[in-house]
Amino acid sequence: MAHKKLLIYQSPISKIAVENRSLLLPPIDQPLAVSRIKRGSFLYKLFHLQLIDHVPEAKDREWWARCRLEHICITPYLTYDLLRIAILAAIFATFMPLPFMLAMMVSGGCIAMCQVHVDRRYRNQTHSNRENLALVRRVVLARTLHLAVLNAIALFNAPADLLIVLVPIAVMLMWIEAVALLAIPRAAVLSAAINGLAILIPMSLAGTATAAGAAMVAVASFFTIHWAVFHLHYMFATRRLRTRKLTEANDTIQLLLNQYDQDGSDWLFECSEKGRILRPSPRFCEAAGQTAETLEGMQLLDLFYDSPERDELRLMGGQDQSFQRLVVPVIIDRKKRWWSISARKVTSSDGERRYWRGFVADVTRARAAEEKVTYMAHYDVLTDLPNRALFNSSVSRAFARRKDNGLVAILAIDLDHFKQINDSFGHAGGDRALRQAGERIEALARPGMLVARIGGDEFAVLIEGPASREQVIAFADTVVEAMNDPVEIEGQKAQLGACVGVAFAPADGTSGDEVMQAADLALYQAKANGRRAAVLFDKSMQERFQERRKLEVDLRSALVRGELQLHYQPLVDTQTTQVVGYEALLRWNHPVRGSVSPDEFVPIAEETGQIVSIGAWVLREALAEASRWPDHLTVSVNLSPVQTRGGADLYTTIVQALAASNVSAHRLELEITETVLMQENQETIALLHKIRALGVQIALDDFGIGYSSLNYLRAFPFDKIKIDRRFVGDMAVREDSDAIVRAVIALATQLNMRTTAEGVENTEQLERIRETQCTQLQGYLFSRAVPAEQLTHRQATFERMQTSPIAHLSANRVRGNSGAEQRHSA
Ligand code: C2E
Ligand code: CA
Ligand code: CA
Repeated sequence: MAHKKLLIYQSPISKIAVENRSLLLPPIDQPLAVSRIKRGSFLYKLFHLQLIDHVPEAKDREWWARCRLEHICITPYLTYDLLRIAILAAIFATFMPLPFMLAMMVSGGCIAMCQVHVDRRYRNQTHSNRENLALVRRVVLARTLHLAVLNAIALFNAPADLLIVLVPIAVMLMWIEAVALLAIPRAAVLSAAINGLAILIPMSLAGTATAAGAAMVAVASFFTIHWAVFHLHYMFATRRLRTRKLTEANDTIQLLLNQYDQDGSDWLFECSEKGRILRPSPRFCEAAGQTAETLEGMQLLDLFYDSPERDELRLMGGQDQSFQRLVVPVIIDRKKRWWSISARKVTSSDGERRYWRGFVADVTRARAAEEKVTYMAHYDVLTDLPNRALFNSSVSRAFARRKDNGLVAILAIDLDHFKQINDSFGHAGGDRALRQAGERIEALARPGMLVARIGGDEFAVLIEGPASREQVIAFADTVVEAMNDPVEIEGQKAQLGACVGVAFAPADGTSGDEVMQAADLALYQAKANGRRAAVLFDKSMQERFQERRKLEVDLRSALVRGELQLHYQPLVDTQTTQVVGYEALLRWNHPVRGSVSPDEFVPIAEETGQIVSIGAWVLREALAEASRWPDHLTVSVNLSPVQTRGGADLYTTIVQALAASNVSAHRLELEITETVLMQENQETIALLHKIRALGVQIALDDFGIGYSSLNYLRAFPFDKIKIDRRFVGDMAVREDSDAIVRAVIALATQLNMRTTAEGVENTEQLERIRETQCTQLQGYLFSRAVPAEQLTHRQATFERMQTSPIAHLSANRVRGNSGAEQRHSA
């Protein structure tokens, strides 16, 4: 905008009418004469030239003064002045008197001396440029006045025929002076005005036609000079000031770019249109590990090794469009790095060449982080096996490309004792076990099989294509076998073991989801069977699963709807056969199914975690019932491993239930199974000690069915051992069972623990047990579990039974017929 205003030439006079404050030059730059002219007067308008739009900044004034001085001082004024005086003197001498000539020579000498002074001051730099410029202005004024006065007198006195020579010389000098001074335009215009007047005045007085013509030439010259000076100064000023601004800007940019190259991880680069590197920066050389000489002129593409990304870069280089952040791999010092390149095509300032300019960033770190994130999204970091997400997508893909009769098999694998390993060896140990398990499965897998870790201790295998059904089954068996070998953790061997569920497409399902669910159900069945084995899916599993689902849903509301009930089964003293207490056993009276066995619903409640609230209810209910019994009768309550895992919650529940019922703690007996101790860790043991410290008795239930039961006797000082009913039942028929029961009872007696023989059903068993030191008996021979209101503890003794236990048993059965127990008994 500013330039535009300047470029349109307006007559200096009309232009002056345009109000413009900013253009008043600072006083020091104003020639004295001009600054004294009255504002708004014609002279003011004439000399106050609005020449430049950009007043130099304060810091640039000195530089600006120097520019102008340099320009003025190009003219060798001293020589010029001497030459001028000499020529004029030669002409004037023909018609002027001697005194004039002498005065002219003397004053000319003075002016020359002034000029010598100016030149010296300029050369020696003794004064500031602005001071020098002010001096120059004064000397210019003096020289101009000197010449003008001499000229005017000479022209006035000149013979008419000489005017034809003198006037052109005077006009020529007027031009030379003004143009030479274009760097100080007001001085130039003033000089033109004075020189013009020196012609105009004598010519007007002469009154001849030639003189009148000469006067008009002087006036016209003045205005033309005014116009010329305006333009020339404009060009001079804008060029100098603009060049300065550009240089400054360039310097700043260069500085910033250098900084950018040095500090950043990015660097700039230039390439010819053909892709040859131009002027590589030090940062570029350093990043590329090459010298500037090697890089200069080298094909940019040659830096990168053959890769799809490099091909893309080549493609981009062949086009005209700019490109952004193209990430290309590069090998530097035998290490792979990633460079992100952005570039655009530019045209050189002369408009002749086209070349690429852009910047490169080393994004190796970001790229590595990105790769890690992608890896973690698809792989399990611990085992380096594909994770569930990748397994699922692989299954989907396998089903998408499966041909009509193509076989796809899925194996679901679950480790058996992972939790125990985790508890005894800590998480690091657990991780090692998982890694070893993963490695074993992976080692067995053949090409075309995908092994994945899909959860905590769950693995899965996807088998596609040529394998036959038999091969898949054989593979599943080898997995089970391989897992039977103990794993080694911190130099110790630990038993792992695995169950495997196998399902096939198309037999067991046609979609990935269906087959995976089938494999899960088969696995579930394998676990329920309790043996380390591979189980094939069959349709009945689906039905059972759905049944179970329904039960699960119903169980959720069972407690609130009051469908749960406790039955009580007496424990009798072996010697006296008096009832010493009762075991509380849960019953679920399902509105549709009738009585549901705890063997069926307790595992569901454990799986869903409902056993915690149900168990708390059992404790409160059983203790509330026991509070109505004679003080010598104990109450036994079964605890689930899930409850003991709850820790502090269980303890609080027990304390609150005891407090609420007002039953003394020693009358409460808690029955736990080996499974509670299998999750053996310090916390569980500590919790049991804490409970026992309340005075509560702790019994080990179902003793003998686990394979390392004896070990658990050392883990905790139980008050009682309950020998599992399967051993008691077998006593009469199997010699070894009989021996085991006797040995266990002997051992417990030695350890100061009481014993209960469970499941005593007939007198033969009774007699055999009576031969031992077994403390208590429990079983159908005495009574089934019955509702609280049918409890016979009022009779307090089963003495009759001693004479006829069978009679008693049948009597019991008759009584049980009316109760819910009957439906439940199997
Ligand atoms: P358990 O703790 O071993 O309970 C004894 C089981 O043996 C009871 O079965 C009882 O009815 C049965 N029984 C008693 N005498 C004889 C006999 O002479 N012959 C035979 N064949 N069986 C006899 P029930 O009531 O079906 O309970 C099964 C299991 O359910 C219990 O086994 C216990 O593990 C669990 N359970 C029952 N109530 C609860 C409870 O409140 N909480 C927890 N966590 N589990 C419970
Ligand atoms: Ca029990
Ligand atoms: Ca038992």
